[in-house]
Amino acid sequence: MNDSTALLKRQLFPVRLADYLPDAAEKACLLYAPLSHDFVLLDTDELEALADGLAECDSGTGASRPEHDRLLSWCLTHSSDALPKANYAMSPSQVRSLTILPNNICNFSCSYCYAAKGHGSDELDEETIRAALDWFVNPGRTTERDLYISFGGGGEPLLSWPRVRFALRHSRELALRGGFRLHYSYASNGSVIDNEIVSAIKEFAIKVNISFDILEDVQDRQRGSYRLVAKTLDTLLLNAIFPTVNSVITPLNVHRQCEMVEHVHARFPGLRRLSFDHVEGYPFSTVDGLRNFYDDYTENFYSARSAGVSCGIDVSSIKHHNVSLLKQRACAGGFDLCPDGSVSVCFLVSSPREALFDRFVYGSVHDGRVSYDESKFLDIVGRSTHSRPQCAHCFARWHCGGGCLYNTSSKSQEEIDAMCHFIRKFTLRALLEGVKN
Ligand code: SF4
Ligand code: SF4
Repeated sequence: MNDSTALLKRQLFPVRLADYLPDAAEKACLLYAPLSHDFVLLDTDELEALADGLAECDSGTGASRPEHDRLLSWCLTHSSDALPKANYAMSPSQVRSLTILPNNICNFSCSYCYAAKGHGSDELDEETIRAALDWFVNPGRTTERDLYISFGGGGEPLLSWPRVRFALRHSRELALRGGFRLHYSYASNGSVIDNEIVSAIKEFAIKVNISFDILEDVQDRQRGSYRLVAKTLDTLLLNAIFPTVNSVITPLNVHRQCEMVEHVHARFPGLRRLSFDHVEGYPFSTVDGLRNFYDDYTENFYSARSAGVSCGIDVSSIKHHNVSLLKQRACAGGFDLCPDGSVSVCFLVSSPREALFDRFVYGSVHDGRVSYDESKFLDIVGRSTHSRPQCAHCFARWHCGGGCLYNTSSKSQEEIDAMCHFIRKFTLRALLEGVKN
């Protein structure tokens, strides 16, 4: 491809389709303007003429009249030299989301569990939860009025239901006093539900996420307890609560994503939102194995999305959702309260038994007091920001944000390159499918 400097400096990214889609014509290209969520399809000859036309515009030597040149005019109206709005906190005092990990206790033993090493018997006490909430829902800390509180693992949060209930009630009191709007969510393995929890979901308008691998044989091999989780989903649906189901896609179910949608349609007709995220940290024996898995995941994900459209089910994933967002950095910086009272930047790292714990933990809540290290927080968040040279020319950069520190910390350079190719291909498929916001 020709020199793209004049395009790139306007935040316009040329993409040769055949680099990602084997059936694409040799000369077919896409020119992407991520900051306006728009693109135009063209061929390499047009792209070359365009880059020359823009370079001439820049040097003031061009005879071309943009109003008569459709592509040049498109470029000029889609050019930008502004960065997207910052999506990250510069200090813990700016965070709008608090994640509470009430325990590291789990009644499941999932084959791909990210938290398995940290499982134990720790549980947050009310004093610690109270101190974290008093700090978080505090008009002296933030002028934002919408704050987000989620409960997740570590372990299974609803095994500590009395702690979750305490957090809901106490935060509501603080919000009423301080004039905040609170938005709640939880992520559960679906093994715990009762009438009190159902009532609380309605009373506090909690967004519910259930981790469930949908097909009975897959759930029972990867997570266990298909019947128990199916019963929880039935209970929620019976009470007009419509959770998002989060499924982990591994080599075992990567080719069965359409079947998963069909099973949901037939067995759980009220479910409308599925999130199919690929497994992280799976021990592929070769990098080619990882690449093939990414390709299979992408193909089958988009087939499942189409299958979902025909039965009114939205099939998404974190990476698919990212295409509708603009991110300067992959890591927005979290305030995640771990079961031992530590504060981690990411809920995926929550126990001193995990290798990344010391790198991710920047504060604590102890003896009724919140404390944190501002410079460590900034340092962690600052690491996930287009640090690879390829990021500068990468058309996915404003959706990817340079890769999440957790996901890149344990990967080899070859694995990171495979991941980047996958992110670009997956993003391209989303664009061609018409994701726009
Ligand atoms: S339910 Fe969650 S925390 Fe428990 S084993 Fe499975 S993935 Fe790990
Ligand atoms: S996909 Fe890779 S190269 Fe592109 S922005 Fe993300 S980390 Fe950087």
